Amino acid sequence: MVNYRYLGKSGFKVTEITYGNWVTHASQVENDAAIATVHKALDLGITSFDTADTYANTAAEVVLGEALKGQRRESLEIFTKVYWPIGPKGANDRGLSRKHIHDGINGSLQRLGVDYVDLYQAHRYDYETPLEETMQAFADIVRQGKALYIGVSEWTAEQLREGHALAKQLGFQLVSNQPQYSALWRVIEGKVVPTSEELGMSQIVWSPMAQGVLSGKYLPGQPVPAGSRATDEKSGATFIKRFLDDDVLAAVQKLKPLAEQAGLTMPQLAIAWVLQNPNVAAALVGASRPEQLEDNVKASGVTLDADLMAAIDEALAPVAVTDPEETYSVSPATRP
Ligand code: NDP
Repeated sequence: MVNYRYLGKSGFKVTEITYGNWVTHASQVENDAAIATVHKALDLGITSFDTADTYANTAAEVVLGEALKGQRRESLEIFTKVYWPIGPKGANDRGLSRKHIHDGINGSLQRLGVDYVDLYQAHRYDYETPLEETMQAFADIVRQGKALYIGVSEWTAEQLREGHALAKQLGFQLVSNQPQYSALWRVIEGKVVPTSEELGMSQIVWSPMAQGVLSGKYLPGQPVPAGSRATDEKSGATFIKRFLDDDVLAAVQKLKPLAEQAGLTMPQLAIAWVLQNPNVAAALVGASRPEQLEDNVKASGVTLDADLMAAIDEALAPVAVTDPEETYSVSPATRP
């Protein structure tokens, strides 16, 4: 079974391994396989699920809704997001304006087939909309009961601080940030994590396995494995490219003996690594097939000792990205 962790200072608990359906459902993976993977997640004790309106241009929410149909709603934690353009990409089909947040939540609820989501997240910071407008719109959604908690994704430490203060004034909880975090991408450690600890917010971290690269299946100088994300020309291949560098892949291979010594598979080591950070509430894993989740959930509850953590640091130091300035920022960085 999978352990639960609190989200920020709230009383809300999520499974420390949460299943997300970016670039897989309604895209790389056929619907039958997507639904089978969600059902496997439930069988394994994962009750928290992450999606976004923009995934497969809204179709991923439909698949997740279909897969969760008939489950006891109270026993599920469902997260979705708003910001990126959806639909015909009209003038108001993107961002964190009051209008787009209003339309966004209503569309997501309809596609997921639920009355409320547990966590509604700003998928990026919106430099075009005043933050007061965004936070007021989120406050209204919480009051309407359409979302219970509000989170954000890839906000900087300063943005988290400002958003948190406004949420407090408006009487709702900003509980989480959803950044990229893995042993290869550590940019949150310098600023975002210390600020979040101070504010009482958690991280729900995406791509803990660097999109599959930390599973060790991509070998330097070799063709990418058949059926992997790197072969998914519809979407996934574009995103994983940044990690498919021979120096990175060679450094990852150095983790193999370390994982073996610890009695873990490489995917388990990668997921357990992010869960050693106490500010992380959940590792947001992807899976293109049910068997991957069987492997990955065994990372729940694993402790990596200090020597092993140091050996991982040493193996990846030449290639791991740590600069806090790399925290995602979407242009334009100011209102045009
Ligand atoms: P991971 O780093 O966990 O990568 C998942 C992929 O790795 C799988 O789809 C699979 O790809 C491969 N994999 C998984 N398990 C194994 C295994 N045991 N052995 C070998 N390969 C394996 O996470 P994702 O990149 O998928 O991201 C997870 C979630 O994070 C998303 O679904 C989404 O919810 C969230 N996210 C949020 C973002 C944001 O901006 N807020 C951005 C990106 C993601 P394959 O089999 O095809 O090779």
